[in-house]
Amino acid sequence: MSEVPDNFDRQHQSRQVYLTFDDGPDLVWTPKILDVLGQHKVPATFCVLGFYAASHPQLIERIIAEGHEIANHTMTHRDLSKCEPEQTRREILEANAIFKRTCPAATVRYVRAPYGIWTKEVIAESAKAGLTALHWSIDPRDWSRPGVDAIVHAVLASVQPGSIVLLHDGSPPGEWYPDARATSRDQTVTALSRLIPALKERRFVISSLP
Ligand SMILES: [Zn+2]
Repeated sequence: MSEVPDNFDRQHQSRQVYLTFDDGPDLVWTPKILDVLGQHKVPATFCVLGFYAASHPQLIERIIAEGHEIANHTMTHRDLSKCEPEQTRREILEANAIFKRTCPAATVRYVRAPYGIWTKEVIAESAKAGLTALHWSIDPRDWSRPGVDAIVHAVLASVQPGSIVLLHDGSPPGEWYPDARATSRDQTVTALSRLIPALKERRFVISSLP
């Protein structure tokens, strides 16, 4: 997976760390995440789904207006390793077209494959679309709602300069949840409000992706 950067320390010999939020934009949780980022004046990257961006263009506009970045997380969050090349291309390009239409001011530089499942074909199609593959280095599994303490500790236990932290401000379409609480991102919001000061205290600089 040498083509997929999961840590940018090699480029940045400083204490930068990167926050990423996947599977939105979500009407309930994305604004709450943006509020916390805004209170602490730190940037983040939102790996958004075209399917949701089309329904909530105002959230894409707000993300960009507040100094954050959006990345392509495909149109509908399919496992691209199970898609034909043509489907993979459509999943990436249709999402890009929606971002361009909903927010012409946004520059999309990165793509993150659903579930972090990368294949040679996915990386090749991404490159053809002008997108750099973006993985992560810390996954506290916030989507599984392990508890705020567990999310905070998982990040602080392994964070190092260049770390890319994976968090979630939404949940993929079409996934069946037995319990509506399963899609709540309340733990992520609370964990974020504790993580940002804790990272700053440890002299990390929360930054935009290089
Ligand atoms: Zn995802």
